[in-house]
Amino acid sequence: MAARVQRMSQSMLKTLRDDPADAETLSHKLLVRAAYVRRTAAGIWAWLPIGKQVLENVTRIVREEMDAIGGQEVLLPALLPKEPYEVTGRYTEYGEQLFRLRDRKGGEYLLGPTHEEIFTQVVQDQCSSYKDLPVRVYQIQTKYRDEARPRSGILRGREFTMKDSYSFDATDEALAESYALHRAAYQRIFERLGLDYRIVSAVSGAMGGSASEEFLAPAAAGEDTFVDCPACDYAANTEAVTLPVQPVDGSAHAAVQELDTPDTPTIESLAAFLDVPPSATLKNLLVKVDGEITAVAVPGDREVDLGKLAEHLAPAVVELVTAEDFTDRPDLVRGYVGPQGGMAGKAFRYLADPRIAPGTAWITGANKPGVHARDVVCGRDFEVDRYLDVVVVEPGDPCPNCGAGIELGRAIEIGHIFQLGRKYTDAFNFDVLGQNGKPVRVTMGSYGVGVTRAVAALAEQTADGQGLCWPREVAPADVHVVAAGKAAQTELALETAEQLGAAGVRVLVDDRAGVSPGVKFTDAELIGVPTILIVGRGAKDGLVELKDRRTGEREELPVAEAVARLA
Ligand code: ATP
Ligand code: MG
Ligand code: MG
Ligand code: MG
Repeated sequence: MAARVQRMSQSMLKTLRDDPADAETLSHKLLVRAAYVRRTAAGIWAWLPIGKQVLENVTRIVREEMDAIGGQEVLLPALLPKEPYEVTGRYTEYGEQLFRLRDRKGGEYLLGPTHEEIFTQVVQDQCSSYKDLPVRVYQIQTKYRDEARPRSGILRGREFTMKDSYSFDATDEALAESYALHRAAYQRIFERLGLDYRIVSAVSGAMGGSASEEFLAPAAAGEDTFVDCPACDYAANTEAVTLPVQPVDGSAHAAVQELDTPDTPTIESLAAFLDVPPSATLKNLLVKVDGEITAVAVPGDREVDLGKLAEHLAPAVVELVTAEDFTDRPDLVRGYVGPQGGMAGKAFRYLADPRIAPGTAWITGANKPGVHARDVVCGRDFEVDRYLDVVVVEPGDPCPNCGAGIELGRAIEIGHIFQLGRKYTDAFNFDVLGQNGKPVRVTMGSYGVGVTRAVAALAEQTADGQGLCWPREVAPADVHVVAAGKAAQTELALETAEQLGAAGVRVLVDDRAGVSPGVKFTDAELIGVPTILIVGRGAKDGLVELKDRRTGEREELPVAEAVARLA
């Protein structure tokens, strides 16, 4: 079957020489520069032609693997009534992450951040007997989350594409089977995408339920930290790791001090209270606010200056936390505050976490080395319905499984699978008629792949100093034909491109006039199509050059041979 030939002279494919000013991650920089995406607003992205093609390729792989495990594709709305989310409590639980809106009659709606509620209703409407189960349904759809820090390009969008599946089963064993099928499908998806990934145990988070695993793609740009044991196969998100609690060292602040002017904390009184200069920015300190141990933070900021802190604390009474505050308190969640980050980083993550009602967690900074407060009170510092088991782990800590020294890595969460159990089916009283004629409460799983995020994760993992470098199945074309300059070369390039296209090879051909060969070569490296075919000096003798984008290996050969090789 003939394949697409895209001519750059006729395409919306304008590369940029410079990184966008606000870009922090490699994928953000490269995907913008190479004209895959353009920013519309914070965390909201337009996909340009070659970007859309890559997205489509990823989508196709995901769809094929979901279909292969018997997934039925549906499409649910993204604009949703609030009522189902009120039934499960998530309308409030989701906090500021949720985009809420009203229609002209005042009816309240939301833009779906994830669809457990709606899928439960749809499937409940269709299934009444155990014979109707198992049901495995999925959609590939736009999701909306008002992320606190939509900073890393398409890695963390406020609008993004997710493949979300849901399984409905009559028994726990059947749920385990649905889960295992999804797990295997995800392994195939990420292998086909060419992603390096780990499967780690994870906390269940806002979803509730028992078993949950994440698929993490190791990358420096990742926002998750995972524990990796070099000696056994233990791997976990640090949020899911439980280590023995170490004794609290609160000796540095053994005495409770009260802020001098509790009604109106000022920069000066805070500086004196915390024993820092007035110009200090803070990270990492637990204090007691009106007697409650509180991690204080200002949303969106990593470091807090004393002015902001004073603003947020007024008119509370602020005291330092002491070791005694943590003695004999089994209700306290194990947390950690250290001079280097610890709880501050964690708590900032919580601000962006659907489990935490926004505004309930604040952080201040630890200003004194050696101050370790290992406990944070859940439901008070953080509005959650259960205790988080949070321990900050460090490299060399003992592996919970085998005791060897663990390693830590950064990674991007590309997928997440949950055995939800009956949380949602209970909320909607979803029973089917069982084998013995009695009603059986349905049990459920939910499974997500970040489709747009996978594109960015792949860019992060495969890019090199020259630019993007896609695996063939994902790339916007199989071959990038570059006409080095002269009219005759452009002619041969277009001819070769047509031949390749006719042979089913997807081609991007750089036939732009008035663009120097140097710029064209640089652009080809940047765009990252796996094979580059250069029509240059040898063209007069019918020779072209093939270059492997990844290895840089080059070879000169006759046109017909090059076409045959690539077809
Ligand atoms: P994160 O921890 O990165 O915020 P999450 O745990 O909130 O992600 P899930 O609710 O588990 O996300 O959603 C399933 C998948 O959707 C995630 O594994 C991730 O790949 C993707 N995803 C979640 N949030 C975003 C986002 N803001 N932008 C792009 N993809 C996202
Ligand atoms: Mg999230
Ligand atoms: Mg997560
Ligand atoms: Mg998740």
